Amino acid sequence: YAKQRGKNRVERYQQRYDELLRRRGTLEAELRHAIDREQLRLVFQPVVALPSMRPVGAEALLRWTHPTLGAVRPDEFIPVAEESGLINRIGSWVLEQATIQLAEWLSRGHDVWVSVNLSPKELHAADYAGQVADVLERHGVPPQRLVLEVTEHAVATDMEELISRLAELRATGVRIALDDFGAGYSSLGQLRTLPVDILKIDHALVAEPESRTGMAAPLVDVVVRMGHRLGLEVLAEGIGTPAQRAAVEEAGCRLGQGSLFGWGVPAEHLEAQLRTLRQGGSRPVPAPRSAP
Ligand code: C2E
Ligand code: MG
Ligand code: MG
Ligand code: MG
Repeated sequence: YAKQRGKNRVERYQQRYDELLRRRGTLEAELRHAIDREQLRLVFQPVVALPSMRPVGAEALLRWTHPTLGAVRPDEFIPVAEESGLINRIGSWVLEQATIQLAEWLSRGHDVWVSVNLSPKELHAADYAGQVADVLERHGVPPQRLVLEVTEHAVATDMEELISRLAELRATGVRIALDDFGAGYSSLGQLRTLPVDILKIDHALVAEPESRTGMAAPLVDVVVRMGHRLGLEVLAEGIGTPAQRAAVEEAGCRLGQGSLFGWGVPAEHLEAQLRTLRQGGSRPVPAPRSAP
């Protein structure tokens, strides 16, 4: 019986594995045409200043809606794009679309920046910095209005190479954000040597304060202080509740993002949403805080 059970388990495992492979193959084949078939689009999630909640920027997030597969999450298709080499073409498309949108907002007088997520493979492509400079120039966007987000995962690779790529990018005038900080890959020591401008605290750390209303959670507190000491701007991701916002503010964090302020929405919706946030976010003006 034990032998039979073991055999069944192996078969089930094999079946599951075959399914995953098939799904991956389908995604890769379909992703190949996603741009041409206009299945990709960007949504924009607001970034707000804290504690005022004044919107200051937006993160461009990629969405893929397939006619039969439906909405496929970026956490599923980005890795497929990375492994298959499609990420470079997709990333170029994202950069271009985000820059076009940014140019439009700037031309209408909105004082915002836009951030774009970058895969390590794009970062290491030949003359990526040149491509970024070219896109910005073609659309007449001042480089400091664009933020490129590099995930902590990139940090796990060759540090020297990473530092020189980031330095090249920064030389074009764009700002660099280290995404998902605290999710478990990069160390505090590495942070000191990386040429970045903004530290994005991962939502897992931000979720921690939930039980301690109005008190800075120890980890968020330490990361915010350290980021500021290193001269970085610090942004807390995934703020979903007023208690989390309070805790993050208490830690001295001055930038926030998360469902409390709004999920990613189509560009045309963002302006209206930002106006609502400005007017509807009626909290009393807090007493000025002394510098940390
Ligand atoms: P990320 O860059 O860390 O983006 C933040 C993710 O957290 C987004 O998921 C966003 O919708 C979600 N989020 C925002 N606020 C909240 C909140 O309050 N609570 C919770 N639980 N989640 C929140 P999304 O859009 O599914 O993106 C997932 C990841 O996919 C991104 O993580 C990013 O690493 C990657 N990604 C998305 N767009 C692109 C892209 O254009 N290029 C590349 N290379 N990667 C992308
Ligand atoms: Mg990001
Ligand atoms: Mg993140
Ligand atoms: Mg992430």
